[in-house]
Amino acid sequence: MNTRSRLAAMRRAGVLPEQAATPPNPACVIVADQRCEHALVDRELNRRLYDYEERVRGRFTAIVDTLKTLSDCRHKLDFVEKAQQIAMDRLGYELPGHLLDDAWVSGLNIRALHAWCTFQSFKNTVDQAHVDQKPLCERSLLDAGFVLSCGYHTLDISPCADGRLQGLVPFVFRMAPNDAVYVKAYAGALFDIEADVVDWTHRELNRLTGGISGGEDANYLKIAVYHFSTSNPNHEGCAAHGSNDRVAMESALERLHELRAAIENTFGLGAAPETLLIGVDTDIDAIRVHLPDGNGDISPHRYVESFRIYQETLAMNAADARAHIDRSVAEAEHAEGWARGAGGIAPGMRRFILHLLEANLSQIEYVIQHHAGRYQVIGHNERFICVGEAMTELQLRNKFYFAHLDTVEEGANDMDVGIRIFTGLNIRHGLGVPVLVHFHYSSHVPGARERAILRCRRVKAAVEARYSQLHENQQLFCQMAISDLHGSERCTFVEDEVDRVGH
Ligand SMILES: [Zn+2]
Repeated sequence: MNTRSRLAAMRRAGVLPEQAATPPNPACVIVADQRCEHALVDRELNRRLYDYEERVRGRFTAIVDTLKTLSDCRHKLDFVEKAQQIAMDRLGYELPGHLLDDAWVSGLNIRALHAWCTFQSFKNTVDQAHVDQKPLCERSLLDAGFVLSCGYHTLDISPCADGRLQGLVPFVFRMAPNDAVYVKAYAGALFDIEADVVDWTHRELNRLTGGISGGEDANYLKIAVYHFSTSNPNHEGCAAHGSNDRVAMESALERLHELRAAIENTFGLGAAPETLLIGVDTDIDAIRVHLPDGNGDISPHRYVESFRIYQETLAMNAADARAHIDRSVAEAEHAEGWARGAGGIAPGMRRFILHLLEANLSQIEYVIQHHAGRYQVIGHNERFICVGEAMTELQLRNKFYFAHLDTVEEGANDMDVGIRIFTGLNIRHGLGVPVLVHFHYSSHVPGARERAILRCRRVKAAVEARYSQLHENQQLFCQMAISDLHGSERCTFVEDEVDRVGH
């Protein structure tokens, strides 16, 4: 829905006064209206998510001010000692001595320090994740048990790599991070079909050998997530698709078709996973769920939007609001014309969609309450680029741009989009681009750790070669890291002796 029709809908719903001229931020008007307390919103979870957001965001936002303070006092006699104390007080860690020692004569290497601090703040977040995320896991609306009750043993989610979707799972979908949920982001949600067939095969083999408790009769669900911006559709949509919403949606849908075809053609009719297509309005975190028909086919034209549901159910009690969501899905399901599908949604999928729509209402109200109804920065504001494999320890909007890849050659498009974004965010302001190269290994597999390190080194070298000018100008900082899939080693930094950050 565009802004104008949203405003019209709000007027009809009574949440926007008739006499109001077009306000700069439609959702703010809801804040002014005391009826904004929706019966289906989990306020306790919202409070916990806000605590999480504040704590994690604080680790990154303190970096620039801390560096400015250090820059001011670099001529003091006891600079190194003082700098370490300031860093400990404000950031919770000490800085590398080699970046401070010569500051009095050659100046502070702010770019290198900025990159180093960004990596270290991320590392702290990873180390603290079990504490930070515990309150969320205990309260999230959609947990692994719920996913299984809908008939799915695995949710394989491919959002766009855009940092604005980094909070997708705990915030937008209100799902607890758990073993059944896999997130692999690609620019434009254009996930890798071959890699997905491999992932699907692994999970199916796991299921068939009894490795997934309770998953014997369950299915695999692949979800592609595209995004758009209702406030500035031509500029703040998906960069990978030139902010063209229709192309973003149709490209993601085409990948889902291709994945199903790939698995059916290889493993036989009926083997394909179920699929779901979801759009996210990154200005307000509302979702658009495309409804699969009886055959599992998805249409670009058959969908339900959570923001509309939020408006329509604002004054209702919980039972009426749930009935309304159910009705909205049923109406869209039986739509005629372009949106017409072949038969109703399968019961498990229906249950999943209904709960997802309900859970997202909490996020809509979260954005209303904590971000004035629409994010202040509706565009990019990421802190670093993560390439390789993502970790679940940091799930917050606009923290990092993620490019899932095994080699830079195959992930070149995703990397280029990321570098373009950071040219505007960092390089234009004199800072560099921090790139974290991260891979997992399995401690069950002999030699896997060493191979993961080798892979890190290969990808790092390829990134530095691809963006050689940035690298030579000290505008690109790569940090390598590895994590064990099974043990406790998480995000261990791998140092490169000959090329430490700042040297
Ligand atoms: Zn995108």
